[in-house]
Amino acid sequence: MRLSQMLFVTLREDPAEAEIPSHKLLLRAGYIRRIGSGIYAYLPLMWRVLKKVSQIVREEMDATGAQECLLPQLQPADLWRESGRWDTYTQAEGIMFAMTDRQQRELGLGPTHEEVITTIAKDMIRSYRQLPVHLYQIQTKFRDEIRPRFGLMRGREFIMKDGYSFHTNEESLKKTYQDMAQAYSNMLRRSGLQFRAVDADSGAIGGSGSQEFMVLAEAGEDEVLYTEDGQYAANVEKAVSMPADTEPSPFATFEKRETPGTETIDKLCKFLKCSPTQVVKNVLYQAVYDNGITVLVLVSIRGDQDVNQVKLLNELTKLAGNYQAKTVLFLTVPDAEAQRKWAAKSLPLGYMAPDVADDYIAGSKEVNSKFLRLVDRTAVDLTNFVTGSNQSGYHVVGANWDKEFPLPATVVGVRTAKKGDRAVHNPEQTLQSARGIEVGHIFQLGTKYSQAMGATYTSEQGEEMPFVMGCYGVGVSRLAQSAVEQSYDKDGIIWPVAIAPYHAIISIPNISDAQQIEVAEKLYAELNQSGIETLLDDRDERAGVKFKDADLIGIPYRIVPGRSLKAGKVEVVERATHKSHEILIDEVNSTLKHWIEAAIN
Ligand code: ATP
Ligand code: MG
Repeated sequence: MRLSQMLFVTLREDPAEAEIPSHKLLLRAGYIRRIGSGIYAYLPLMWRVLKKVSQIVREEMDATGAQECLLPQLQPADLWRESGRWDTYTQAEGIMFAMTDRQQRELGLGPTHEEVITTIAKDMIRSYRQLPVHLYQIQTKFRDEIRPRFGLMRGREFIMKDGYSFHTNEESLKKTYQDMAQAYSNMLRRSGLQFRAVDADSGAIGGSGSQEFMVLAEAGEDEVLYTEDGQYAANVEKAVSMPADTEPSPFATFEKRETPGTETIDKLCKFLKCSPTQVVKNVLYQAVYDNGITVLVLVSIRGDQDVNQVKLLNELTKLAGNYQAKTVLFLTVPDAEAQRKWAAKSLPLGYMAPDVADDYIAGSKEVNSKFLRLVDRTAVDLTNFVTGSNQSGYHVVGANWDKEFPLPATVVGVRTAKKGDRAVHNPEQTLQSARGIEVGHIFQLGTKYSQAMGATYTSEQGEEMPFVMGCYGVGVSRLAQSAVEQSYDKDGIIWPVAIAPYHAIISIPNISDAQQIEVAEKLYAELNQSGIETLLDDRDERAGVKFKDADLIGIPYRIVPGRSLKAGKVEVVERATHKSHEILIDEVNSTLKHWIEAAIN
């Protein structure tokens, strides 16, 4: 492609809308253009990158025996009602764009495809003989993200590879899951990314496993905790660890103390000269279940620990049956306005005890009249502890479970693991922290969807059994941008060769020099012919501008037919290192071939 004929527009300045380097660079270098919030046009250079990433993904998927297909993006609401996800996806999480057609039928724009694929399997797979089977697609997904940001990292329209596998049993599922873990590692390695596979939250489905593939980068929205020995890595949402030891309590007798202005653990511990490990803090949450019932949740946890909302959500989902509900729609820390809806009187916030009275709640048809009291494992064994007194400005010290306060019946593990904690597999290892961008997620679903949607097959014994399922997603557009986030310098993007839009760019320093033009044209034809994807910068611009642009768009090799032509050579500059080579014109093709092959394999 000739730059003189391309839509080629680069920006000198960083666009104001962009916060992270990869987003700025993709905009500046003319790869993407923002059309609306979380909505981007993939311009010709970006589209080439996306096609290369897709091709790597496709090759790795095909190698496992998975089959490519293309499923509809318009999805009938009824399918989502069968799985029970319509309300959660359109209202609670609100992630699905929903609409009504002219016949008043409701539809959603696909954020994911479990429902569609399960209904196909239900129709088409009758017998165990047809299993296992794995279908995947590469397609635009739609999600009404609450905070679209960072360009392609979190869009409202983005490209995903999603695959779904069907099995007769867990063992067969595990095999495909392992194959996927390998395929995902291959995809990321081939795309030139540094990544880590980590244990991930599988929601309330529980039991079965799930792993995320994290590209390591400061701008990552996820926190990854891992140990140096390589034995453990998990998303903080899921990570487990050993809490620090509890210090013995300095309080031997139970009494109420005036503790003015101590609504935080920090202030309280300074005031009482005690350790936060001797405090039971009581944190209030508000859960709304899918039947509209609001439940006030009081979590008692050791003072130096924090509640992990993902773990709490999973526990509350398990308890949904107690409230005649199936799942939790919202989990929040109730602010003043939320409290006004159900608080019978003003709560002693910052001073609540584990037994704060239920009469603070004005119960109603929508609001459960009793607190759901949970205690985290870290707080169960504390003795002579400090906690609230249910009166503002006062705490109690020297308290004990089942003496001054009944121990809540439901013990849960909802603490957040953090950097510096001892690892469970080996207490000598401490958890380290890194930021990651989730580019892939593989998931053992089990029978969640097949059971909900009545998708069954006939087993060898003649029984109707629900499919055992797995699902596997890669964010193709997010992956492409992550590559930039991991690889750039002050001059611009440094694409990994395997996913660069072009391998080489010939920058003609002076377009009124006939010899430069002749060599450039010859190389341009020859390189493209032999499969080295090459751009020709034949614009009427100064050489400096051309070199700057070539660096900005990040093409791995820049070829300059300049001064060295006298010696029958051209200059070839490696983008990543700025290393310059003088190469005989006749050897450019074979040299680049060699370099590209070495870089890709
Ligand atoms: P996240 O936690 O980042 O919101 P998710 O867990 O909801 O993502 P999945 O449903 O597992 O995402 O989707 C599979 C993959 O699709 C993710 O691993 C990610 O790479 C990509 N992805 C998800 N949401 C977006 C988005 N809004 N923009 C771009 N890529 C996305
Ligand atoms: Mg995910």
